[in-house]
Amino acid sequence: MVVTVAVLAETFDSRMELMLSQALTLEIEDERGRKTEEPFLAAVRATIRYAYQPIVNITSGASYGFEALLRGQQGLGFPTIASLFDYAHEQGLLHRLELTLRELAIQGFLSIKATRGCRLFFNLDNRVLDAPDYRPHRTTDLLRHYGLEPTCVCFELSELHAVPDQAGPLLRRYRDQSYLLAIDDFGVGFSGLRLLYDHQPNVIKLDRFFIDQIDEDSRKRTFASSVVSLAHILGMAVVAEGVETERAFLTCKAIGCDLVQGYFIARPTVETSELRETYEAVAAISRRDRRHSRSDEKLVRVEVDPVPALRAADPMGVVFDTFRRNKDRNFFPVIDENRLPLGVVRESELKEFIYSRYGKDLLSNKTLGRNLRNFLTACPICDINTEVETILAIYSQAEDPPCVIIVENFRYVGILSAASLLRVLNDKNLRLARNQNPLTKLPGNDLIADHISLALDDRSAGWIFVYFDLDNFKPFNDLFGFRQGDRAILMFADLLTAHLTGADAFVGHIGGDDFFASRRTDDPEAAIAEIRALVETFGRDAEMFYDPETRQRGHVEGRDREGQPRRYPLLSCSAAITVVPAGDCTITLDQVSEAVADMKRLAKRSPDHLCIRWVGKEG
Ligand code: C2E
Ligand code: CA
Ligand code: CA
Repeated sequence: MVVTVAVLAETFDSRMELMLSQALTLEIEDERGRKTEEPFLAAVRATIRYAYQPIVNITSGASYGFEALLRGQQGLGFPTIASLFDYAHEQGLLHRLELTLRELAIQGFLSIKATRGCRLFFNLDNRVLDAPDYRPHRTTDLLRHYGLEPTCVCFELSELHAVPDQAGPLLRRYRDQSYLLAIDDFGVGFSGLRLLYDHQPNVIKLDRFFIDQIDEDSRKRTFASSVVSLAHILGMAVVAEGVETERAFLTCKAIGCDLVQGYFIARPTVETSELRETYEAVAAISRRDRRHSRSDEKLVRVEVDPVPALRAADPMGVVFDTFRRNKDRNFFPVIDENRLPLGVVRESELKEFIYSRYGKDLLSNKTLGRNLRNFLTACPICDINTEVETILAIYSQAEDPPCVIIVENFRYVGILSAASLLRVLNDKNLRLARNQNPLTKLPGNDLIADHISLALDDRSAGWIFVYFDLDNFKPFNDLFGFRQGDRAILMFADLLTAHLTGADAFVGHIGGDDFFASRRTDDPEAAIAEIRALVETFGRDAEMFYDPETRQRGHVEGRDREGQPRRYPLLSCSAAITVVPAGDCTITLDQVSEAVADMKRLAKRSPDHLCIRWVGKEG
């Protein structure tokens, strides 16, 4: 290790001669206002650039922040970013290097057009937390100089490096000054949980290791989703780092990550004009997604209580007045300047002070430095689009939470109490029960109609809609009895759900022996082949209901409506398929269902039991 540093220093020193001549001409004020600068820092200032990578809301695609990533260290003779920091550490310049870099990062951040309400994510070298040349308040002065608030900055603390024991007070000071804190590379270091416990960060950045191929690796998925649950119980947001593919993106979204960063959204860039306020690809996926998973947002919105929140910066006098004016409320949510919830403040926490003789005066006295942040209790936070079952799980796992805080795009909306949460769940179950087939538990008619209408609004891809009908079900039922009839129906329902899997598929039960399925697809031929295979499989599987002789014969004897003896073929199914291509073509729910009766008749007569209609291709 020593050798590496020595070699680096040597490389650096030879580069330095060149840099020095430049550095001496650079007139940069140091902290005492002298017009010289440590040559190394001057060289850094002249050479290092920052690239930025957006961290975006996984649902809306809105930029939540931009991570500053250092570029150009090779120009100073350092092969890696880490080696630059190692050198500065060796030289006792680490903290001053940090300040120089912070300034560069802030300058670059300010040149991003889309910074309104966005945060600068800045990587801390953990060693700076106990650097001997550390001086407090420098960053806040720097921000003030550039007209930024501390709430605009999120420090990333990496789990990969040990966090010095002395770091606690500094991190606490950062938090008291309203800086945000993120734990970076979460899950691959050695003290991640300890960091969560000790420093209560606002954000967890789940390491790329867990995101890479998360769509194919169920163990990674399990791990990631437990981290998400834990984070939400503790009121923290989760960033999925290093998302490179749409499939990984969808998995991260499905397990509840709040934010996403990675090449799939955007690569880091030094061209700040390329950075966007919203990443349309993400927003488009959500619009599409929403049509499949019926979010409980409407139900939650009805129950959410928009309790006016306290602001972290509110003087303690205001806090007491608020409690006094609202005698029936024993806690209030607390938000920061960006309406980001920070937790709740409980009356019980304040009581000790309220009831002490001088407590209130003590607290109201600003010079004593107690503020609302000193009385915060963590509280679970959920996005308004979270499934109510998930909200309930998060609520019940938290330690005695007064409520769940509901946010939309990370901004405070209101709170859900336990009672209102149960009401939402009850409403949802009632609605589901009303709309569910009692035998197969599949969505019934109303939900199928909703699904088709929503699908027809989403023309960014094609769709196939399939109506299934069992053939010869009535004589089968008459001959074998309704129990066996139910078994056949359940067998078909199982087959349907097993074949039509994935986020792009939908399956419903119209009633009796009528079923519905759809798939969102740009490859209708493949989707039709899938249906064809299903129809064939059912034909084969249904044979098991008959004895070998009947199977051999290929029909059963029954009687028709007039009571005349008749032969009926064995149980099978037929499918009426409507293919709706992507793009413009106006078709309504009624038009889809109108044609179905005729199509079903045709399907039953066709040797392959299929009837296919291509919308837009006929006549
Ligand atoms: P990090 O903090 O984990 O930063 C994320 C790294 O992942 C960046 O590498 C970024 O370019 C890369 N990345 C982003 N999206 C993807 C993706 O989808 N796939 C893949 N394969 N990679 C992706 P970069 O810029 O090379 O930075 C490497 C590390 O250097 C950072 O890891 C961070 O620990 C450190 N670093 C960068 N800038 C600074 C800084 O200003 N200060 C300090 N102390 N460390 C820094
Ligand atoms: Ca980072
Ligand atoms: Ca990272």
